[in-house]
Amino acid sequence: MHFNQLIIGQGLAGSLLAYQLMRQNQSVMVVDDGLKYTSSRVAAGMFTPISGKRMVKSWKVDELFPIMQETYLELEKLLDESFLNNQNIQLSFSSIKEQNDFYSALTDKINKYVVSEEITPHNGINAPFGAVEIKQSGWLNTVKFLDAIRKYLQGKNCFMQKEFFANDLVFENEKWQYQSHSFDSVIFCQGYRNKYNSYFAHIPVIDNKGDVFTVTTDVLDDKKIYKRSCYAVQLEQGIYKVGSTFKWDNDNTTPTKAGFDELNEKTEALINGAYQVIDHYVGIRPTTKDRRPILGKHTQHKNMYIFNGLGTKGVLLAPHFSKVMADYILHNTLPDAAIAADRLI
Ligand SMILES: Cc1cc2nc3c(=O)[nH]c(=O)nc-3n(C[C@H](O)[C@H](O)[C@H](O)COP(=O)(O)OP(=O)(O)OC[C@H]3O[C@@H](n4cnc5c(N)ncnc54)[C@H](O)[C@@H]3O)c2cc1C
Repeated sequence: MHFNQLIIGQGLAGSLLAYQLMRQNQSVMVVDDGLKYTSSRVAAGMFTPISGKRMVKSWKVDELFPIMQETYLELEKLLDESFLNNQNIQLSFSSIKEQNDFYSALTDKINKYVVSEEITPHNGINAPFGAVEIKQSGWLNTVKFLDAIRKYLQGKNCFMQKEFFANDLVFENEKWQYQSHSFDSVIFCQGYRNKYNSYFAHIPVIDNKGDVFTVTTDVLDDKKIYKRSCYAVQLEQGIYKVGSTFKWDNDNTTPTKAGFDELNEKTEALINGAYQVIDHYVGIRPTTKDRRPILGKHTQHKNMYIFNGLGTKGVLLAPHFSKVMADYILHNTLPDAAIAADRLI
């Protein structure tokens, strides 16, 4: 059978790209090996206009935020599932210095995202230096989202659960051939595992490993995101996803005692009361040196592309950049050249 595009990887990048291509009447086939602990599935899926240690405005957030909202809302309708949670973040300061830094950075640029400068922190949270509440924030339930997209693709016979090997791909008669199907183009959306793909292994996607817990606790009771040294996002009443750590060391996704201890220390600093860790898992973020996504076309192989490098902000970045990528593949245009031009390889 012939399809327009073959997409390798069904994380946030591959899923949103598949959607953007289908919106433009393309037929796609998505291949993913179905691993449980991928970056997109492990992620808390948070989005916020202010981020980083220095609490600065996120890159292009005013442009990316409305596109993100619109895209996930459209997908909630299409997939008849709910996964987008718009919730404020209650941010507690860890020190006087952090508090001072925050207020001195509170210029007009970021003031509009702060609900009120002083709030009464939740009892279940440690906030000895006070807290503020950030709006235009929330989280995407990435597991629900990816499961719903997968089901949709399966329903259209557009999904293969399979490990992809570059040797299985052949270019013949101006088409890519894979598993007895032919394709106009192939796009790799493999996250950190891009380095095992001989076609694009030279592209610098840098591993950044993060530990995450699922914890139960009855000291937190409402649907807010809590953040201090780490975050807690409510999955269900009494059950929270807590994360995370940032390590540049290796790409081993087996949880370690060192990772457990580091995240447990952060969790103790956040939650004021008893909690129990019921699961500990690890994911690898596909980051880049300049913290910008990678959208590119292979310089030697015809109709072969890469979409990667979503880093720590896949939820916010993927809706917009998947559209830029789809337009590039289909029309060879860069509607948002200012953002994307310097990312082409
Ligand atoms: C601990 C942690 C916390 C995070 N928190 C947030 C957050 O709060 N907010 C946010 O926006 N982002 C967060 N992120 C980052 C976010 O998860 C990433 O930006 C995003 O998931 C990257 O998506 P991706 O599709 O590029 O990669 P992935 O999610 O890694 O997807 C790649 C897919 O390709 C598949 N694949 C790879 N190679 C093959 C192959 N050979 N054959 C078959 N299938 C293959 C994989 O199994 C996987 O399903 C977090 C990440 C981690 C690890």
